[in-house]
Amino acid sequence: MSHQNGIRQALEIGEFLYTLEHVPALQSEGPSALLALVRNAELVGRDPRIRGINIGDRVKGRDCVDTVECGRIVLEASGKIPLLHLAGKGRDPAQANAVYRRALDAGLTNMLLVSGDRLPDEARPDRIRYHDSVVAVSDVRHMEPGALIAAAVSPFKYREEELANQYLKMAKKINAGASYLITNCGWDMRKFEELAWYCNARGFTIPLVANLLLPSMGWARGIHGRRLPGVHMSDDLFNKISEEHALGKPLAQQHYFHRLALQVIGVKLMGYAGVQLSGVDEYETLCQVIELVDDLEKTVRSRLDWNDAWRDAHRLQDGREVIFSPPGGIYLFGTTRPSPGSLDALPRIGDAQPGEEEMRQYRKMSTVHDLAFKKGSTGAAVMKPLMRVMGTSKLGHAITLKLEHSIKAPLLGCESCGFCRIEYLMYKCPETCPKGLANGPCSGTDDNVCEFKDRECIHNGKYRIAKALGKLAELEEVLVPAVQGTRNTSSWINEFSGAVPLVRRVKTTAAKKSASTSATTPVTTGATSTPPLAKAIEDVGVAHANVDPSIRAVQRMRNSG
Ligand code: SF4
Repeated sequence: MSHQNGIRQALEIGEFLYTLEHVPALQSEGPSALLALVRNAELVGRDPRIRGINIGDRVKGRDCVDTVECGRIVLEASGKIPLLHLAGKGRDPAQANAVYRRALDAGLTNMLLVSGDRLPDEARPDRIRYHDSVVAVSDVRHMEPGALIAAAVSPFKYREEELANQYLKMAKKINAGASYLITNCGWDMRKFEELAWYCNARGFTIPLVANLLLPSMGWARGIHGRRLPGVHMSDDLFNKISEEHALGKPLAQQHYFHRLALQVIGVKLMGYAGVQLSGVDEYETLCQVIELVDDLEKTVRSRLDWNDAWRDAHRLQDGREVIFSPPGGIYLFGTTRPSPGSLDALPRIGDAQPGEEEMRQYRKMSTVHDLAFKKGSTGAAVMKPLMRVMGTSKLGHAITLKLEHSIKAPLLGCESCGFCRIEYLMYKCPETCPKGLANGPCSGTDDNVCEFKDRECIHNGKYRIAKALGKLAELEEVLVPAVQGTRNTSSWINEFSGAVPLVRRVKTTAAKKSASTSATTPVTTGATSTPPLAKAIEDVGVAHANVDPSIRAVQRMRNSG
């Protein structure tokens, strides 16, 4: 059977993209769940309006039916290459790469690569850091240059640090080789627009797909109660859904579907390339949504029509309009669209500054780094032969490891990963992130607080310092590799014996660079240092234009329309 890449085709020809969601069941739920998958896949295979099935990964836990296996079943039953969501959660780099390899070998070349939200059984003693999504994008792009790689972004953040970090990391994912972007789910249409405007203003021409969620009352309760990481539902919207729920199931359903259809039309009018609908996992339900959208589009034809319809659908019983943001929530832009290509870098969006203690710590660590590790420094001249000698014996290694840990653990939260990356993170240790992410935050923050709810997201401080030092471009371009095979060894020994991975600077040909950035950003990321030995940053221009030229052309047309 020949297989069709309907998702790629839709993106290439600019046809609005619909896919059907499949959330793999737990293994314990038995084979009946797979029968439903086969049925949906056969129906999707015969329906030209639906370009494929998107398959979740470890959504219900670690013990879900394998996503690649589901992908094989879908490919066979539908003839259409599905979109595999592949998460780094609970997978070390080798395990994650083995999953990508298996998928590619099976012809499953469409992937959404994410770090993933918190696993239900997270508090395991054998902590595994999540495989970083930026590294994943880069790795899969190198494994299979023709792969269609989606990356995630959440514009639904309302504090400066968490919002800026999302956009910085998004740029890094584009730089690393993402083909298109899929948002997190949300209902704040101004945020969907903000993302589209921002990409357009930066000259990021890759397509955007909106993730929209059809919330039942149960879902709404959970999301409003902050039980779905990183997804925000305002009090107003929750109250509106509660009012609809009180009308009884048939009427409430009508309202829920009407809202979803309006969202689809809204993002279409903003230039999005398609939607991915969460909570719509039956073929017939997706058809219902598509038909409702087609019908509604007969009267909602323009942005003005849409504004009226959205406003009408979101009036509360007390007469007020629903507000979708939390109090004081920030947006990147006001109500005026920036002109295409008008931005060279992230615009200034707030007054967040590092605290005195934060800057003191940065300066202290940066000075130590310059004295002890900077190439050509007296410290490095002493350290290099010393570390090489210490690394030749088990005892020498054990003593160095102990010494290093005793100094760095209280200062930085070091966990002896063996590949010290603090110089690329404004001297914040990525091991203090519960997921161990080094290239930017996951999308789980809420009001700047970590998804694990026990600390501020560790990437916020990094952002504040980079902003204060004029180094934000580094957070878009410096690709920090994963730690592989060096845990519980001394990073000092590894550093001076060249046993740490190469850190690369990645740039697309599409992304415009600011004059100030290119003039002032050094190749190194430390305050004043040159890179130590093996960690020299290699400039790598990612020939992004070679990946999906036709997709990019379609998006450019859409954005200029
Ligand atoms: S520290 Fe930030 S990136 Fe890490 S888990 Fe928490 S929210 Fe996610």
